[in-house]
Amino acid sequence: MHASPALFWFRQDLRLADNPGLFGLRTRPLLAAFVLDDEAAGAWAYGGAQRWWLHHSLKALGEALEARGIGLHLASGDSAEIIPRLAAAIGAEEVVAARMYEPWAVRRDGAVARALAKDGRSLTLETGALLHDPDGLRTGAGKPYSVYTPFARALSAQPEAPPPLPAPQALHPAAEAPQGLALDDLGLLPRRDWWREFPQHWMPGEAGAQRALADAGKVLPAYGSARDFPARAGTSRLSPHLHFGEVSPRQVFHAARGEGAFLKELYWREFSYHLLAHRPEMPEQPLRPEFARMPWRRDARALRAWQQGRTGYPFIDAGMRQLWRTGWMHNRVRMATASFLVKHLLLPWQEGEAWFWDTLLDADLANNSANWQWVAGSGVDASPFFRIFNPITQGEKFDADGAYVREWVPELAKLPAKFLHCPWLAPAELLSKAGIELGRDYPRAIVAHEEARARALAGYAGIRAS
Ligand SMILES: Cc1cc2nc3c(=O)[nH]c(=O)nc-3n(C[C@H](O)[C@H](O)[C@H](O)COP(=O)(O)OP(=O)(O)OC[C@H]3O[C@@H](n4cnc5c(N)ncnc54)[C@H](O)[C@@H]3O)c2cc1C
Repeated sequence: MHASPALFWFRQDLRLADNPGLFGLRTRPLLAAFVLDDEAAGAWAYGGAQRWWLHHSLKALGEALEARGIGLHLASGDSAEIIPRLAAAIGAEEVVAARMYEPWAVRRDGAVARALAKDGRSLTLETGALLHDPDGLRTGAGKPYSVYTPFARALSAQPEAPPPLPAPQALHPAAEAPQGLALDDLGLLPRRDWWREFPQHWMPGEAGAQRALADAGKVLPAYGSARDFPARAGTSRLSPHLHFGEVSPRQVFHAARGEGAFLKELYWREFSYHLLAHRPEMPEQPLRPEFARMPWRRDARALRAWQQGRTGYPFIDAGMRQLWRTGWMHNRVRMATASFLVKHLLLPWQEGEAWFWDTLLDADLANNSANWQWVAGSGVDASPFFRIFNPITQGEKFDADGAYVREWVPELAKLPAKFLHCPWLAPAELLSKAGIELGRDYPRAIVAHEEARARALAGYAGIRAS
């Protein structure tokens, strides 16, 4: 046994299996720690929904570590002070962690490495959150990629990711391990209990992630044809597990080998991280600078209506309510709701990004900001701004029988499918038979589609001309 102790620092890799850094330390005396460092994360500290998830994921991780012989040391505060102190307490020369790519985390890790170095200690970062490190992929001209298709081609031409590592069978506690905080002392569970339905839909932690991966095996063969229909269980629902690293992309890749349509989405995730690593301004600034001149409106009432699922467009409202109640929204509806905010309401994409950040269990800085920029048209390889999703036909196409709207907007449940996505067109008699008075039981449309579309296009023409 290698006698020198080490510190393993868990961050967004809350798993034991296929965790290269942890695996490498399995024979050494070990302290495993997690530090909640909201200050370093600043504006991108975990949102409310993620805090709920993190609480339960840390609980599961702590129990899994206990079963293998060591505890999970919990702390809250400045990592650059806490990590060196813990390393010194156990006499560890080496701290190991999985590399993170969020700009704040990169800065924080630099500060931790410098603080450790003062005492002759080191920070080693392993690749575990991605199939390939963003630095390893470059265009023929030696530049980072800004277009998805050549990026995905380059990624798939890389040597195949090696098979996942097993979880260590046993771990050995370092002597003199200091006492950490109790989980409840991290204060992660939001006081407001809008999350009470989350446990019906999700099981945070590595065991939950493995269950989701096994369930995904059943939907993946039909993924290509089912993935766009939000009323169907046609996607993997792995996103929060992937975000918190309860399952590794390598495990997902090997489980889904051969499922081309699905792997393309996993590659979109890699692409988002590639963009974030090379364009750290992505969460805040449009990647196409002309979008800074877009005549965005400020309209607190419209923003609130969108957040609460009360825009009067049933497909949009269903999505926003699914998000609030379950902490997740189907990708097709994420695109439609995001487009509605940016184009129909002409509100800045950053407002939608911030709401998603607070309410999504899978809120992920790379994926969230890359996708908002994609929808807004301000991303490097984005959907063009003039392609404006029609919230009515999106519903008619992807929720033709209205099952999705009926589930999340139950006040419309009795309306025939023909009018479900445009209740204002329903004859008065039909509405009253369905028990609906528009403006009382369900909102009138907050904007008229054609007018909103014209306004958005005029705004866009303005920034192109200037
Ligand atoms: C406006 C907007 C915001 C989004 N914000 C997030 C976010 O904060 N976090 C997040 O994980 N995804 C985000 N997405 C991408 C996508 O909607 C979700 O990853 C997906 O719906 C998660 O469900 P799933 O696990 O069943 O996906 P599946 O379809 O089963 O896909 C498997 C995995 O691939 C990745 N993936 C799928 N689609 C995308 C995509 N478009 N971009 C990047 N990675 C993708 C995810 O990790 C996902 O878990 C956003 C999309 C939009 C349009």
